[in-house]
Amino acid sequence: MAEEQCLFCSIVAGDIPADIVFESDTAIAFRDINPQAPTHVIIIPRKHVATINDLETGDEGIVGSLFSAAKEIAAEEELSEAGYRTVMNCNKAAGQSVFHIHLHLLGGRLFAWPPG
Ligand code: AMP
Ligand code: ZN
Repeated sequence: MAEEQCLFCSIVAGDIPADIVFESDTAIAFRDINPQAPTHVIIIPRKHVATINDLETGDEGIVGSLFSAAKEIAAEEELSEAGYRTVMNCNKAAGQSVFHIHLHLLGGRLFAWPPG
């Protein structure tokens, strides 16, 4: 069920435009509006889950599908061999700003470790 006022639910519903690069039964992915790397794609479940803390038993397949999508998108973007980063922020200390879980897929440049 889509949550009212959720930006990413609105993208899933097609009410807000996005540059969609991947769609499956459980997930969609679109280019980040403020990219932090040459490739920066946001991969989200169609189901509204606010944070990692809100995942329920039975959501494992949905979360797995985000990584399956990342693998496919990385191959499409020709990042598989060079490498890429996947990140999911949880709550404020980690910098989560949209409260509908999403996996960032970043590639096309070198990344520092540890992250800032
Ligand atoms: P986070 O800070 O981990 O919650 O990531 C949220 C991401 O969503 C940020 O990288 C934003 O740039 C991105 N974002 C916010 N609004 C949009 C939008 N309308 N379309 C695409 N990406 C967005
Ligand atoms: Zn949502």
